[in-house]
Amino acid sequence: MADKAEKRELLSSYRAKRRTDGTTEPFGGALPAASGGPLRFVIHHHAARNTHFDLRLEMEGVLRSWAVPKGPSPNVADKRFAALVEDHPLEYGDFEGKIPDGNYGAGWSIVWDRGIWHPTGDPIEGLRDGKLLFELDGQKLHGTWTLVRMKSGEKDWLFIKEYDDQASEAGTDDYPMNSVFSGLSIDDLEAGYNPAQDILKRLGKARVPLARIEQPKPMLARSGDPFDRKGWIFEIKYDGYRLLCEKNGDDVTLHSRNGNDLSATFPEITQAVARLPYESIIIDGEAVVHDLFGMPSFARM
Ligand code: MN
Repeated sequence: MADKAEKRELLSSYRAKRRTDGTTEPFGGALPAASGGPLRFVIHHHAARNTHFDLRLEMEGVLRSWAVPKGPSPNVADKRFAALVEDHPLEYGDFEGKIPDGNYGAGWSIVWDRGIWHPTGDPIEGLRDGKLLFELDGQKLHGTWTLVRMKSGEKDWLFIKEYDDQASEAGTDDYPMNSVFSGLSIDDLEAGYNPAQDILKRLGKARVPLARIEQPKPMLARSGDPFDRKGWIFEIKYDGYRLLCEKNGDDVTLHSRNGNDLSATFPEITQAVARLPYESIIIDGEAVVHDLFGMPSFARM
């Protein structure tokens, strides 16, 4: 493990490129802090001077980063050039937004994918020796991938899908291009698209300025005879936690069926709801965890 001085060194290059008064990007704490949990990965889609993807793998308390101009491909024949760039702070994994003109990397950046990565062997040694083999367990990327350093230079790497049941003939364009948080793509953001506008127009006068839940009382399922009638849709009775999500501006509260505040119990959901491109909204849903067969499993909650 790197000592304190070395760890401080890890982010010095990152900080040297940015001005605290110029950008909303995070600068990281005084020392990088390891998350302590499973190792996180994130892929940003970043419309800087040239639009590219940034692959970031948590290592030694920072996000080790590669800029991948053409993006990840599930096709094992696509060997994607990946330039090793400066380490980023762990908090950068949540960053989305527009880096203002005149700043380093100016342009929109979204969290295109994120999840957990599982290195095969010691990743620090792998980085030094120029070969990292790992599994990605993300929302878009899955299965085994590799990063291999080329002979042409220290910072020149290739990002390649390995053969497994997640490999396919598809390309980068076959992945959804949206943010895993807001659902908006770089193109949407650049075009100023606001999905709330159509809904607000349809609501017209029925619109209330703030969506507030005073007494959470979700509609509950009742047993009855099976029927099929026009105007009805049917859904599975999921076995999880009923959640009423309330978002007003940056304030998000998750209410349980009995009115308990579950915001801290499901931080990923709270964060995801906070990033939805709606100013004031209530979402009624069920939080479920799937088992290996894709069935909701209450025991796994
Ligand atoms: Mn970038």
